[in-house]
Amino acid sequence: MACLTPVTCPSCFEEFEVAAPSPDETPCTVDYDCEVCCRPMVIRFVCWDDDIVAEAAGLGDSF
Ligand SMILES: [Zn+2]
Repeated sequence: MACLTPVTCPSCFEEFEVAAPSPDETPCTVDYDCEVCCRPMVIRFVCWDDDIVAEAAGLGDSF
């Protein structure tokens, strides 16, 4: 069962939740469309002490 982790859209700066991968699949990046403004972004998932943390960047941005 996937848990949800909050992420902030780099385009509209609204926060929403995305399904996090399991810790052994991190770090990873996924392409995602913002649920608020529908713009594409890249979400990077990293694991900190068994918590999945997501950070998002626009397609033209670097982390
Ligand atoms: Zn957005």
